[in-house]
Amino acid sequence: MRLRCWLPAAAGIWLAAAPAVVESAQFRPRATVRVVATGGTIANHPDGRLTARELTDLIPAAGRYAEVETEQFANLPSSSLTVEHWLALARRLNRLFSARRDLDGVVLTSGTDTLEETAYFLHLTVRTDRPIVVVGAMRPPTAPGYDGAANLLDAVRVAASPTSRNRGVVVVVNGEIHAARDVRKVHAQRLDSFDSGRNGVLGVVDADRIEYYRRPTRRHTHRTEFDVAGLLRLPRVVLLTSYVGASGDLIRAARDLGAAGVVVAAAGAGAMTPAQADAIDDVIDDGVVVVITTRTGGGRVPARLRRVAPPAGPASSRGGRRVSGESLSAVKARVLLMLALTTARDGADVQRLFTMY
Ligand code: ASP
Repeated sequence: MRLRCWLPAAAGIWLAAAPAVVESAQFRPRATVRVVATGGTIANHPDGRLTARELTDLIPAAGRYAEVETEQFANLPSSSLTVEHWLALARRLNRLFSARRDLDGVVLTSGTDTLEETAYFLHLTVRTDRPIVVVGAMRPPTAPGYDGAANLLDAVRVAASPTSRNRGVVVVVNGEIHAARDVRKVHAQRLDSFDSGRNGVLGVVDADRIEYYRRPTRRHTHRTEFDVAGLLRLPRVVLLTSYVGASGDLIRAARDLGAAGVVVAAAGAGAMTPAQADAIDDVIDDGVVVVITTRTGGGRVPARLRRVAPPAGPASSRGGRRVSGESLSAVKARVLLMLALTTARDGADVQRLFTMY
């Protein structure tokens, strides 16, 4: 980095101008950032997927902001990632942050298709106040206008910045910083495919500096109560949708196949067909926890769902009520419900977690 240096006015000259005066206030020199790669379009070269090291070789400018290390966790399309991958990744990142006090942040590369689920899972399970930045690309490395290098450089800058601490897991794409809880992929093809709905972005990555507007208000990362250290799998939770004429048999089938939880992407603020409502009452009686979310893409499902009184009998140990998924999308409600079922005593306890996270 070139340094601007003013000499006494009498000298009448100044030396080598530098563009990064504001950045130097935000970035400690020699920040250390580890790029952990999992695959996705960002790495999807026709001659074979790029490795973490090959990806960071595309962004020599990253050296201005941080010492960049690399690690290959996987090299898969994000639709091939499993819950077992997530558990192993959370354990890996927890170990990394506790062993490496010198590490300023982690960048995780991912395919964009399920990126929002991975980001929210890590937001709930990695206990650190240091930044974890999830990044992907909409175009592969050989496409004109490949967005992967620009997004990766932005992600390293965000991870290297002390201003990113204590904001939970964030997603950096297309110059924007999104909260893991809010972000969704909202378009199948475009570069601006990620959006945080009416909550808006957490901040932006501008050429001169990183600008944050807000912090997430719900619990996450270093304040999480979820401990996945000893877990090799999570309870099965399935996701179903409400639509005109939807029957209840798939909800009962989920119970019969051993699901511990069901998430329903309901219409409006929690509406569903009478057949689905009856089936939900049945499976709740059998101990299945049912979480209601909205399929609209925005807003909360209010906690005024029927069946607040627990039914009698041993099968009702999970508590007989529907749980409001609050403002979580259905796919993220599934993530939280899988984790909630590892600790919650009953439906009321699951509701507490949905209100808090
Ligand atoms: N199919 C890719 C994935 O792994 C898509 C992407 O990365 O944009 O999710």
